[in-house]
Amino acid sequence: PFGTTKSVEDLMKRGEGTSFAELVRVCQDLQSTSKRTEKIRLVGAFLHSLAEEEISPAVSLVLGRVFPQADERRLEIGWRTVGQVKKEASGKRGTGKGLSILAVRQAFDRTATVRGKGAQEERRALLRDLYGASSEAEQEILTKILFGEMQHGVGEGVMVQAVAETAGVALDLIRRAVMCTGDVGEVVRLALTRGVEGVAKIGLRLFRPVQPMLAALGKGLEEVLAEHGGKTALEYKFDGARVQIHKKRDAVRIFSRRLSEVTASLPDVVRRVRENVEVNEAVVEGEVVAVGEGERPLPFQDLMRRFRRLHDVERMVDEVPVRLHLFDCLYMDGESLLDETYGERWKRLSNIVPELFLTKRLVTSDVLAGETFLRQAMEAGHEGLMAKDLKGLYTPGTRGKRWLKIKPAETLDLVIVAADWGYGRRTGWLSNYHLAARDEETGTFPIIGKTFKGMTDEGFIRMTERLQGLKTGETRQTVVVKPETVVEVAYNEIQKSRQYPSGFALRFARVKRVREDKGPAEADTLGRVRTLYEKQFERKARRKGLPE
Ligand code: AMP
Repeated sequence: PFGTTKSVEDLMKRGEGTSFAELVRVCQDLQSTSKRTEKIRLVGAFLHSLAEEEISPAVSLVLGRVFPQADERRLEIGWRTVGQVKKEASGKRGTGKGLSILAVRQAFDRTATVRGKGAQEERRALLRDLYGASSEAEQEILTKILFGEMQHGVGEGVMVQAVAETAGVALDLIRRAVMCTGDVGEVVRLALTRGVEGVAKIGLRLFRPVQPMLAALGKGLEEVLAEHGGKTALEYKFDGARVQIHKKRDAVRIFSRRLSEVTASLPDVVRRVRENVEVNEAVVEGEVVAVGEGERPLPFQDLMRRFRRLHDVERMVDEVPVRLHLFDCLYMDGESLLDETYGERWKRLSNIVPELFLTKRLVTSDVLAGETFLRQAMEAGHEGLMAKDLKGLYTPGTRGKRWLKIKPAETLDLVIVAADWGYGRRTGWLSNYHLAARDEETGTFPIIGKTFKGMTDEGFIRMTERLQGLKTGETRQTVVVKPETVVEVAYNEIQKSRQYPSGFALRFARVKRVREDKGPAEADTLGRVRTLYEKQFERKARRKGLPE
């Protein structure tokens, strides 16, 4: 019914389109209900009432975003400026009648494009106009949007569900489209105006990064093989930075795991791709790893120096040489490969990329062969393996079981302080063991996990007898025992826990063996658990700081 080319002043004056006040009312309603279903209904009804060109702007604003997430623009505005602008505008506060959703959108667009001398002042003037035309309630919401602090509990999850229901499009289809575009607003618009057909067409486009597929934590090679139907592709898991490389002839752009562009930091990688990837158009994925003497991988921090550097980039290329290990191909010559199996994607990748740039890989059904490969990866200085289901499709942005990380299990020697009576097949046995570390300060044994995994039937029977001899108390379910039995426990991760007073919990704990040679005084300490936890945490914190 109306175009988006009119000036802000024009729109403000004529009050065309849906008013911003309407959006503010919806935000207030959203804030006053805690029911998710009600929020979904409110958002759905609101979106349904909008004109096509209002949809995308409204979605961003409701989500408390100045610009869509995929948009690189930022408004550099601080609290102080907003405070001043508010004050200055207070003399001419409007009734809010004139301000439309599109006018707000345009005011933000304009503010973002102001450059050069006097830009600061001009930006302020634009904001002043915007605040001047707003009612008090509108100002409040504007400020929340500027600082990304909506408090109505509507994130992309609720938004996407509301759209699925309103437009009658499957939730999965919408989610996937959002992962492909990184732009909810655009997906919502297509869903509401073109329905299933419109959304189904949204796919991968060259030079628009896709949310990368993620991996879950695998327990071990046996489980992984079972999960992947008896056969899996094992790849080295490198401790580097994930890169998604888009190429069209000589134009190459590289995106980080968080989809920011890192092309400028990696001129050497750009050259390698230009010279070696033998196809006109492609999107390939891989890991970039910094290497030192004898091709040994360097710690992650060294690689980060490449990404932080803005000047002298070429010098860094020599100082911190990197290797490129490609492991996936998402697109080739106009064709999206997201819905092809990983087996097929790998085949395509290996057709266009020289062996040198391919990730080291072993397709196997054999646990022993897998273990040897894992040892090789560790000896070469890498993190472990990635197991990939050959039949798995590429699921952008999701952490599923088609990709499973395998790291060598770590173990702790822990003390059994209690055990639960088993049920089902384990009826009559003490089978769920409460595992404790030694608190060297207090001399107590705080629990950090429970498990009934890893034991044979024989083992259960013997352990039941042994623990009954150590009984110090009991309830219907549980036998409390003298802390004397030490077991070696394998686990995949130490987590913070509110459940146990120790503050920690083990993920995937399983008993490897009874340490007959150890007494409780030689069990691992809570201090060691804390240190191991911190060690993982450091890695995760570093992960968060991936190339921006
Ligand atoms: P994590 O960050 O521990 O969840 O592990 C997933 C990350 O491992 C990916 O995002 C990649 O950056 C990295 N990675 C290293 N080697 C591989 C590989 N062969 N396949 C997939 N991801 C890999």
